[in-house]
Amino acid sequence: MLKDKVAVITGSARGIGKAIAEEYASNGAKVVISDILQDLADGTALEIKNKFNTETMAVKADVSKYDEVENLISQTIEKFGKIDILVNNAGITRDNLIMRMSDQEWDLVININLKGVFNCTKAVTRPMMKQRSGRIINITSVVGEMGNAGQINYSASKAGVIGMTKTTAKELGSRGVRVNAIAPGFIVSEMTDKLSDQAKESLTKLIPLGNLGYPKDVANAAVFLASDMAEYITGQVLNVDGGMVMQG
Ligand code: NAP
Repeated sequence: MLKDKVAVITGSARGIGKAIAEEYASNGAKVVISDILQDLADGTALEIKNKFNTETMAVKADVSKYDEVENLISQTIEKFGKIDILVNNAGITRDNLIMRMSDQEWDLVININLKGVFNCTKAVTRPMMKQRSGRIINITSVVGEMGNAGQINYSASKAGVIGMTKTTAKELGSRGVRVNAIAPGFIVSEMTDKLSDQAKESLTKLIPLGNLGYPKDVANAAVFLASDMAEYITGQVLNVDGGMVMQG
């Protein structure tokens, strides 16, 4: 479905980003693995290259730093000649109740989760507009739609990403660039592994489908939104959450 497309996925050395990179590669895309640590990105790029027999590249980029993001996009275009797909996946949590949250916890999450999406989107805007085609997929969260006690910084960043998705879709639509968001619910990951069995059980009760999701569930949605099957879809938020958002 993505034959010879060039995709950059931020924060893709592991977790959901890695699952998206694998699914893109298995659908014929050339993938750029970008993460904050070069070693981890190198390992994932090599693993995907060998597993799917496709071209890959690893580039270290901290999404909160515009010069590193510019370098990521220019290296991609230098190697592959174009950029078809950007997945803004890099994201972190630093949870605390509002009365205890430090400026540092607030700033770090906003700088990576919100400004990071702005930086990467800005950096691909010119090449995608020139090509008159492109797909941008922003990984937000159900928490940006429903709120969550203890996550004021994270929920604000993810709600902001939804606003940016819609604005970018409006600004770039006439140039053939589609911009959509995916809002995962609770996905089996290192983040959710840390939860106690009791916390997992009470969370599961909030999910109409009755189970946590997997990185592959998010990756499948990311393939769809990047493919021509979604040709007439822009500015949307696709929830991959087992129906959780309906409980909010
Ligand atoms: P993850 O396993 O922690 O992976 C995130 C990746 O991003 C890590 O490799 C991390 O590197 C990297 N990263 C951190 N800061 C970065 C920066 N400044 N620049 C570039 N890369 C950076 O997280 P995940 O669970 O796969 O989550 C991926 C995305 O899905 C995030 O946006 C998250 O908010 C969203 N999401 C996740 C869930 C869930 O249940 N897991 C639910 C809803 C939404 P380090 O490991 O070195 O920090």
